[in-house]
Amino acid sequence: MSSPAHSDTVLAGILKVVIDRPLRTALDYLPPPGCKAAELPVGARVRVPVGRGHAVGLITGHASQSAMDSSRLRTITALLDPVPVLDANLLSLLMWASDYYHHPPGEVLFGALPVSLRSGGSAHALESHLRITASGHAAQSEAAATLQRAPRQLLVWQQLLAAGGCLPTARLDAMLPKWGPAARELRDRGWVERIELESQAATPQDSSASTDARADASQRSAPGPGLTDAQRQVVDAIASAAGFSSILLQGATGSGKTEVYMQAVAAALARGRSALVLVPEIGLTPQLVERFRSRFDVPLALLHSALGDAERLAAWRSAWQDRARIVIGTRSAVFAPLHDLGLIVVDEEHDSSYKQQDGGCRYSARDLAVRRAQQLDIPVVLGSATPALETLQNARSGRYQRFVLPRRADQSPAPRLALIDLRTQAVHAGLSSAATQAIERHLGSGGQVLVYINRRGFAPTLLCTSCGWIAPCQSCDARLTVHQGAGRMRCHHCGADEPLPERCPRCGYGVKPVGQGTERVEETLTSAFPQQPLVRLDRDTARSAGDIERVTGAVLRGEARILVGTQMITKGHHFPDVTLVVVLNADQGLFSTDFRASERLAQTIVQVAGRAGRAERPGEVLIQTEFPEHPLLQELLARGYEGFAETALAERAAAHWPPFGRIALLRASARDAAHATAFLIAARRASGLDAGPRAGVTLLGPVPTAMARRAGRHHAQLLIESPERATLQGFLRRWLPTVDSLQEARRVRWFLDVDPLDTQ
Ligand code: ADP
Ligand code: ZN
Repeated sequence: MSSPAHSDTVLAGILKVVIDRPLRTALDYLPPPGCKAAELPVGARVRVPVGRGHAVGLITGHASQSAMDSSRLRTITALLDPVPVLDANLLSLLMWASDYYHHPPGEVLFGALPVSLRSGGSAHALESHLRITASGHAAQSEAAATLQRAPRQLLVWQQLLAAGGCLPTARLDAMLPKWGPAARELRDRGWVERIELESQAATPQDSSASTDARADASQRSAPGPGLTDAQRQVVDAIASAAGFSSILLQGATGSGKTEVYMQAVAAALARGRSALVLVPEIGLTPQLVERFRSRFDVPLALLHSALGDAERLAAWRSAWQDRARIVIGTRSAVFAPLHDLGLIVVDEEHDSSYKQQDGGCRYSARDLAVRRAQQLDIPVVLGSATPALETLQNARSGRYQRFVLPRRADQSPAPRLALIDLRTQAVHAGLSSAATQAIERHLGSGGQVLVYINRRGFAPTLLCTSCGWIAPCQSCDARLTVHQGAGRMRCHHCGADEPLPERCPRCGYGVKPVGQGTERVEETLTSAFPQQPLVRLDRDTARSAGDIERVTGAVLRGEARILVGTQMITKGHHFPDVTLVVVLNADQGLFSTDFRASERLAQTIVQVAGRAGRAERPGEVLIQTEFPEHPLLQELLARGYEGFAETALAERAAAHWPPFGRIALLRASARDAAHATAFLIAARRASGLDAGPRAGVTLLGPVPTAMARRAGRHHAQLLIESPERATLQGFLRRWLPTVDSLQEARRVRWFLDVDPLDTQ
């Protein structure tokens, strides 16, 4: 395979370089002429020749030999970072993720960097400088004489000379007010120039203050309230964790989890360490960010998807340059380049937004947070009122420590849950008469009401009452949703957007919207309770964090009495004056083919219920269903989330679903359904598993996905299952290179999803 490396290649060494292309391995390069491989640090970016062009690459290792013939080895063109952009720990986390999720390392590594760094931009901030030019240096004695008659220019000149010929303009501003005109005259003489240079203000090496100084500085932060015994126990367990420890913190909304996070963060800061706090969505957690800001007097950076490229770069830098002591961020912040990380917190750890689902490496930030903590030998805290079944199972098996926070004394008692049997009720526009009466009663006694429905728009279907035509999406196996207010029909899967027809395009008869969405529920409730101000919260009414604040603010201030909304209302905010929660349609989660649907339903019900009530006014929660005797609903009502989880875990164990089995999905899509299927069949054949039973791995499929046609493409999938993680991983590692090279792969888009959340 490999010819022995040329002797001076061995001397100079070889560099493993990963480039931002979908390749499964690193490429081998020689160091630039006159440079030793060892002088090029792992984690630094380089420019390398690739094919006929160039690419930005990242050094992932040194080697003394290459599998490639030494005469064919090419040479690195330039080193882009004197200081690595990824430190050894982060690099190893990212390489682990690339390996575990079987995603090309280049896309994983570069995906963790700010956009401008991916294309070779400077990791440092650029700063405007005034610098003496070559001809300025040459004319030094002449200048000394000439400038005697121009005292302002002389001052600028002398400052520059004293600083070695170059100064940031910001420094000049501070030293010599009004230096501008003098500098212009010097520039006209050709002696100085203005240039943009890397800011020397802070680099990872020179700014790292001593841990002691850091620890002292953290004392400036405000103290929190005295903890309850239950909270104290958790904070102590975190602070006293010697090394890695995974801690599940389970407690209802308002039970004091955030307070525990903050005191654990304070303890980490006091030891001179930094902290990383992951949240599902920044827009829905402004209160958490505010609380951290007002508690901690240390640099804090936010990293989330609503940031522009420049803001993201600034936040990334503040961690990389070791200024930020706390980073709060969403999914991708799990890769924040913090120094001396001492604690990771994952708030609402069950939230599905931690799993990357729309392209790229489909990682779970929750799982990677645990991995990162393990690599760094530090504690990680997973908090939730409704932990994922995976996490609960990890706690049961003793891998995670579990702490439960009881409701605090001044907190409302748990809300009362009750079912409304839709089969025995008069139902008007999706609202049962029992629900309507309850709403009336609660509004009458001064409470606020929250109505949850998991569908936005006016109605999910537009139907012709004469010929039965249903408005379809042209590109998906889906119906168009009626958006009455906007006068449009929209596809919630591909974004198709059409005018709302007044008559049936097929027979010309009248059409009518069927079913309910938030917009229709809003209309129904407005006409039923015309005196009661109502607000709606969904992705149509709230596109930005500001919109969300406006809507939730109106509820918190009592200006709105009724809040109608989607999942968005189940997150972040607690509304103490809400005394009634109505869940309009629970049933979708009960009979789905997706094995996680019931878990999501239970979490949603418990989360939405947790938004309501205060000490003197406990909340009431009404769940409308056509299946009141369903065991999961019964369990949830009788024993809460705990009871539900126990039953659901038993079901999972019986069916060998995660967390009792490990799964991955190979998914493919193509304009032509046959191409997607042909690829998956070829992949299945290439596995060799059909030739005879092999230990431990089962393939199921291919089958079309639940909504097979989406945005004009046909989707199909192959499920890979194994009782053991290692067996599954070993199989995938052997199998995927063959899948890569399949002829049939060229006609499809495909990806692998390890530990998928969505299996339909
Ligand atoms: P969670 O994160 O579980 O929703 P929080 O930590 O936000 O709970 O606590 C809910 C409210 O109770 C907050 O206003 C918080 O300041 C307050 N709180 C939490 N713990 C204590 C405590 N030990 N003493 C007094 N107030 C507390
Ligand atoms: Zn569509």
